[in-house]
Amino acid sequence: MAKPSAFQQLEKLGEGTYATVYKGRNRQTGELVALKEIHLDSEEGTPSTAIREISLMKELKHENILSLVDVIHTENKLMLVSEFMDMDLKKYMDTRGGDRGQLDPATIKSFVYQLLRGIAYCHEKRILHRDLKPQNLLISKHGVLKLADFGLARAFGIPVNTFSAEVVTLWYRAPDVLLGSRTYNTSIDIWSIGCIMAEMFTGRPLFPGTTNEDELKRIFRLLGTPSERTWPGISHLPEYKPQTTVYPAQDLAQVLPQIDPLGIDLLKGMLQLRPEKRISAADALRHAWFYDLPQVRAQAQLLQQQQLHQQAQMARTYGGTVQGNQTGY
Ligand code: ADP
Ligand code: MG
Repeated sequence: MAKPSAFQQLEKLGEGTYATVYKGRNRQTGELVALKEIHLDSEEGTPSTAIREISLMKELKHENILSLVDVIHTENKLMLVSEFMDMDLKKYMDTRGGDRGQLDPATIKSFVYQLLRGIAYCHEKRILHRDLKPQNLLISKHGVLKLADFGLARAFGIPVNTFSAEVVTLWYRAPDVLLGSRTYNTSIDIWSIGCIMAEMFTGRPLFPGTTNEDELKRIFRLLGTPSERTWPGISHLPEYKPQTTVYPAQDLAQVLPQIDPLGIDLLKGMLQLRPEKRISAADALRHAWFYDLPQVRAQAQLLQQQQLHQQAQMARTYGGTVQGNQTGY
C-alpha cells in the first residue's frame, strides 16, 4: 500500500455515483494514474461497494479491464489508484463522434469486440459487471477499451436469486431486471452491450427511459410486447403488469439502417427479451461480424496453419493421406 504523498493530484477527471476521480502522477516514476477517491462516512466505515470493487479488481487481470495499481487508505479517504485512460466512451462519442456523436463502423466493431472480450473474461470467472454504460468504459489514446467501475459488480455463485433489483442504470437495464426478476445472470451484461453497440452507431441511447415503466415501454415498442406465449413465466415476475398497448416487433434492420446485416444479426442475439435466449459473450466473440477484424483474421490463419501442420504430421506418421479433420485412425 502506497503513501498518499506518493502521488501528485492533478485535475478532476470525473464524478461518479460514489466517488470523485482525479488525474494523478506517480512522483517517483512520473507515470500518469487515475485516483478514485471514495468518500468515507466516519459512521459507516469503508463502504461495501468499495471493498467489493477492490477485491474484484485485484482478481481481474485482462487487457480489456482497468487494472488496479494500488490502494491508499487514510483516516477519511480511500483512494484506488489505477492506470490512466484518455477518456470514457461517453466523452469519446461527444468529442470524436460525428455530428450526432456516432462513431465509424470500424471503430465500433473494435470497441464491441474488446468490450465482449473483457466481459467474457469476467463471466468466465463468474463475475457480473451489472453497470455497463458508456461512462464506465474507458478508452486509451491507442484505442484500447477497458471495463471500469466495478462498484456494483459482484461474484455470483449458486443460488443467484438474492440480488436486489436496483442495479444497472435504467437505459442499459435488461427487461428481466426491469420486470423484477431476481434470478438474473451474465445475460444482463449482454443486454447492456447490445444497447451500447446501437448507441455507438446512432449517437443516441437506444432506450432512454425515464422510469421503470417508461423504460419497459420503449423496449417493447421496438422489440414487441412479450406475452406468456412468447415468454413463458413472464406474468409471474414481480413487476409484471399487463400492457395496455401491445406492440408488434419492429424490424431492427429498418430502425437501424446504419448497421450492416451481420451486425444486425449479432445485435438481435444480444437484444433478446428473454434472458435465456440472449447470446453469451463467448459465442458473440465467435460471430461472423468480427471475421474481418485484423486480430480475428490473424487468429483464424494461425489456427488453419496449425491444422495443416497437424494433418501433414499425421500423414507422415501414418502414411498415406489424411483428409480434413479426420481422426479415426
Ligand atoms: P463511479 O463509481 O463514481 O461512477 P467511476 O470509476 O465510474 O466512478 O469513475 C467516474 C468517471 O471518472 C468515469 O466515468 C470516467 O470519466 C473517469 N475515470 C474513472 N477512471 C478513470 C481512469 N482510470 N482514467 C481516466 N478517467 C477515469
Ligand atoms: Mg461510473
